[in-house]
Amino acid sequence: MNEPVLTIVVPCYNEEEVLPETMKQLLNLLEQLIAEKLVSRQSKLLFVDDGSKDQTWQLIYKASLQHEAVKGVKLSRNVGHQNALLAGLFAAKSVSDCIVSIDADLQDDISIIREFMQKFHEGYEIVYGVRKKRETDTFFKRHTAQGFYKLMKAMGVNVVYNHADYRLMSRRAVEELERFEEVNLFLRGIVPLLGFRSAVVYYDRKERPAGKTKYPLKKMLAFALDGITSLSITPIRFISLIGFISFFVSLIFGLYFIFLKFTGHTQTGWTSLIMSIWLLGGLQLIAFGLIGEYIGKIYKETKRRPRYIVDMDLLNLPLRATSRDAEEPIHVDVKRLSQSN
Ligand code: UDP
Ligand code: MG
Repeated sequence: MNEPVLTIVVPCYNEEEVLPETMKQLLNLLEQLIAEKLVSRQSKLLFVDDGSKDQTWQLIYKASLQHEAVKGVKLSRNVGHQNALLAGLFAAKSVSDCIVSIDADLQDDISIIREFMQKFHEGYEIVYGVRKKRETDTFFKRHTAQGFYKLMKAMGVNVVYNHADYRLMSRRAVEELERFEEVNLFLRGIVPLLGFRSAVVYYDRKERPAGKTKYPLKKMLAFALDGITSLSITPIRFISLIGFISFFVSLIFGLYFIFLKFTGHTQTGWTSLIMSIWLLGGLQLIAFGLIGEYIGKIYKETKRRPRYIVDMDLLNLPLRATSRDAEEPIHVDVKRLSQSN
């Protein structure tokens, strides 16, 4: 049997500090896997430069000249981790049997890619890397992240607990993923929806050896909100529930006030009036905000904008040579084009 072609996809945003070490370690690992006959000689590392402002692309480009196995895709601007990952998966899919996605910062133990491959050989099409503990994360990150997984569960979104985007997917799984055309693609919630035989591999998460996290609190909250609103309508149901409850409460109060009126104990009622104005005003604003969140999503989806734009693709070069690579700019014969229409 031929060994499967593996592509390891690594999204990178301003990662010049860790990238050389990451490349070295991943290349070593790839060589070992090839020697162990777990993967084919055609296997590659694919670095996706997510519009970095530092030397990231230069590093990737240089490495690609030195090592046959190193390839790169450069996105035209920063589109965020999830979209950069998608760009890598879709670029890799046509030349791979299976694809592993991993962060550039070596926080995830790369040696378990071997176990990913073993599971793939056993017939699993999706293998999730799951962190055993989070001791190396800061107290804050650990708790916010765990709160996030619990919240997702409570909202009815099926996510694999403590699994970030470190996973193996078969070519078929990535092809099916491509059929999810939504712009707000929250991978951790979507991948379990693919079905297929899946397995879990546990590992310890390490500290970031260099560079800073690209996920400060603000981005993390946005990410969590995106995840929930793109996969769950529980928040809307929750609003309806509050609506119903306040309706019944006001009914009971209404009866009580009528009773007071007929027994002649009517109050001036300023306090209750002002309180209900504020309470309802607040509730309504929250409700509007949440509904707006969904409308915003619909708005974005209806535009069908591309999720990312590739500037340069060293993996599928003949398919997508950019004018910058070509010696002469590509000549388009406008006259002939308009004649043929
Ligand atoms: N990343 C990216 N685009 C972004 C932000 C991050 O491609 O806009 C990449 C980053 O280079 C890294 C991965 O996503 O490979 C995860 O980011 P990071 O390690 O900073 O997140 P954390 O592990 O702290 O959650
Ligand atoms: Mg990290």
